[in-house]
Amino acid sequence: GTTLRLILGDQLNPRHTWFEQRRDDVLYVLMEMRQETDYVLHHAQKVLAIFAAMRELARQLRAAGHRVLYLTIDDPDNRQSLPDNLDALLLRFNVRAFEYQAPDEWRLDAQLAAYARRQSIPCRMVESEHFYTLRDDAARLFSTRKQWVMEHFYRHMRVQHRVLIDGAGRPVGGQWNFDHDNRKPWPGLPSEPADFRNAHDHSALWQTIVAAGVNSFGEANAAQLAWPINRAEALQQLDAFIEKALPHFGDFQDAMSHGAWRMFHSLLSFALNTKMLDPREVVAKADAAWRAGRVSLATAEGFIRQIVGWREYIRGFYWAHMPEYVEQNVFGHARALPGWFWNGRTRMRCLARAIGQSLEHAYAHHIQRLMVIGNFALLAGLDPAGVHRWYLGVYVDAFEWVELPNTLGMSQFADGGLLATKPYVSSAAYIDRMSDYCKGCHYDKKLRTGERACPYNSLYWDFFARNAGKLSPNPRLGMVYRQLAKMDEATRRSLQEQADELRNSLDRL
Ligand code: FAD
Repeated sequence: GTTLRLILGDQLNPRHTWFEQRRDDVLYVLMEMRQETDYVLHHAQKVLAIFAAMRELARQLRAAGHRVLYLTIDDPDNRQSLPDNLDALLLRFNVRAFEYQAPDEWRLDAQLAAYARRQSIPCRMVESEHFYTLRDDAARLFSTRKQWVMEHFYRHMRVQHRVLIDGAGRPVGGQWNFDHDNRKPWPGLPSEPADFRNAHDHSALWQTIVAAGVNSFGEANAAQLAWPINRAEALQQLDAFIEKALPHFGDFQDAMSHGAWRMFHSLLSFALNTKMLDPREVVAKADAAWRAGRVSLATAEGFIRQIVGWREYIRGFYWAHMPEYVEQNVFGHARALPGWFWNGRTRMRCLARAIGQSLEHAYAHHIQRLMVIGNFALLAGLDPAGVHRWYLGVYVDAFEWVELPNTLGMSQFADGGLLATKPYVSSAAYIDRMSDYCKGCHYDKKLRTGERACPYNSLYWDFFARNAGKLSPNPRLGMVYRQLAKMDEATRRSLQEQADELRNSLDRL
């Protein structure tokens, strides 16, 4: 009998212990399915990059002598759903045991668990051997505490995994966190490093995907797809990042510029989330760069915190709060996303740029996602579930376990503060301080009311005024509410009228 081992599209780790031995009684299965292309409307590059990387792993496994069955999206035998395909394969190959790696998404975890319960053959879920932590490690760490705090988790991780820890068990440099050194705007120099990714032609695959009827949005750019499709490319990208961009990562981590869509970010989230790269090797290379004196400790720590801290914390948070978390909407926001989320055509220059590059590259960096797009969505009162679906679709690195807590929790505060200690919102002043977006914008960053006023300004004050009942007790928002209290009644009313008008005409902004 055959053991069937399923490999999901975000489980492309060729170094999994599964592959250490070549076994004739094991059949590996990868499937391109409408179930996976259609659970949300995806960016073209996301579908393309995942399928291309799946095909590449299948090719490599076969070359190494493994038995692999690959179902393409246009295969007449493809039933396009996981349980239906598995049913057919179990019969066809006389399968005696079924194994799969722990899925990272609740959706697939529930589907596979239900499937396994219905089988009479032995079914087994094994670890994906990717993350530092198990699904419920973070929940266990926080079980005795009132609140989830990332910094607490992060320090625990640093000690446990001996990352940037000295011989005495103390953080190197005597400090856990150098975040305050990492918040500079970018003056235009040093210049943004050239795109350090390889591009390849996937036009034929793209034609297949389109012909199969898969809908998508954003630019496919199939002839020059620049996302890594195997481990070798991902490693090359990692090395280039460490050498060319990491030295400036810390300084300009929060900076944004009209002319620089990557800034000094790694663009490694796709390779990490599909598990082509192991987080430990990414951390080890950043650590080594610091030890060799090539990057400052503040920079190395700031980068490492994103991976050892935020990434693992977010994952633990997801598993602790699913499946109810998707429904969170503490402010009762219900407005539909304006049409320009799908074409970038708005006169607000920051949003035109951040959304425009998301459509062009299936990528925006953290501060664009948080303080431009997410900030606007929250201030405008967009339906958080709709915002969640947009983020889940548009970014090449978007998988629900990491996208959902970031979107609903960190960015939309839809959980009322389970993840973030205060809403990440700002008026035009913050965007102007951290970017050059406001220069040449149709709207005036200094005005709060009137036709030319930057929409962020009135929306910002009105957001806090409207939600005073929920937010004013928050000590971190004391200053905002003191400023609101000092405003005269007429000012407050005109801000509210302006905000109401804007919210009713979002499509025309
Ligand atoms: P870098 O800036 O180079 O950072 C290095 C790595 O750190 C990233 O590759 C990523 O693995 C990790 N990291 C950094 N910040 C976070 C974070 N907040 N949560 C988890 N990991 C983090 N990240 C995703 O991987 N997928 C998503 O779908 C996603 N959706 C997001 C939605 C919103 C609203 C926000 C505010 C953030 C989201 N993030 C998401 C987190 C972060 O923005 C991206 O990980 C990052 O922009 C990816 O680009 P990079 O690889 O160049 O990151």
